[in-house]
Amino acid sequence: MAWKWYDSKIIRIEDESSTTKRFWAKVENDEPLNFKAGQFVTMDLPIHEKRTKRWRSYSIANHPDGSNILEFCVVKLDGGLGTKYLFEEVKIGTNIRFKGPSGTFTLPENIEKDLVFICTGTGVAPFRSMLLDLIEQKKTHRNIHLIFGTRFDEGILYKEELKALEKKMPNFKYSIALSREKNLPSLNGTEIRKGYVHQYYLDEYRDVTPDVDFYICGWSNMIDEAVENLILKLGYDKKQIHYELYG
Ligand SMILES: Cc1cc2nc3c(=O)[nH]c(=O)nc-3n(C[C@H](O)[C@H](O)[C@H](O)COP(=O)(O)OP(=O)(O)OC[C@H]3O[C@@H](n4cnc5c(N)ncnc54)[C@H](O)[C@@H]3O)c2cc1C
Repeated sequence: MAWKWYDSKIIRIEDESSTTKRFWAKVENDEPLNFKAGQFVTMDLPIHEKRTKRWRSYSIANHPDGSNILEFCVVKLDGGLGTKYLFEEVKIGTNIRFKGPSGTFTLPENIEKDLVFICTGTGVAPFRSMLLDLIEQKKTHRNIHLIFGTRFDEGILYKEELKALEKKMPNFKYSIALSREKNLPSLNGTEIRKGYVHQYYLDEYRDVTPDVDFYICGWSNMIDEAVENLILKLGYDKKQIHYELYG
């Protein structure tokens, strides 16, 4: 199947942390662009002569609302060509060409299990989209536990918004792991621990049950460790584990 390419214009850019920016792109399309919460697009950035070396994928961080505005949450990678372009060249009005939305990292139509979302850094993007979508669609769900990891307090992405969801969403729990922060901040009841995301699920989900599914998003070192822990250490079935690998 030939991919459909879309043009979009950047309409807003905001710093989310010292290394992370949020970008909003308005898609130039008469029809609403349909996507499922959790999907990503692949941008064609002008960073290389060869077409395929210009492609970089980014999860859609907002939920489908028919507005044709897509939000992305991107971390700057030292020496990375795509993020150098996005952080240094892209301005309001810059055209971003992309294909998609693609991907199967999405929730089932009927949610019949507890869900544990595990992520580090910008890996939170698809989960934010899913959570906002569940609220918007007023979908029934069971317990949802978001475990977010980063190094320092200032790198906690969408902090206030996710914190507010704890009040707004029944059965939603938000936990944060900070691996390098010396003084743990207090976040009014939200659980913040020193260390990595892994300790949370190793502690809280050690009693294996078929009634929970794990969704994991981020870079390979974190995902490899989480998959190995869940399957080999704890004994979950691999069908209970779903992941989106950023690289
Ligand atoms: C499906 C999908 C969705 C994605 N969604 C997002 C998203 O929402 N937000 C986001 O910030 N990124 C996301 N990514 C990652 C993104 O596509 C790029 O890989 C990333 O932005 C780096 O691109 P770059 O051109 O700056 O670096 P490149 O020039 O491509 O990278 C240079 C080298 O660094 C490695 N590398 C890339 N990223 C990291 C990293 N974080 N840590 C260690 N090594 C790394 C690469 O494998 C490569 O070897 C996603 C990737 C995929 C596949």
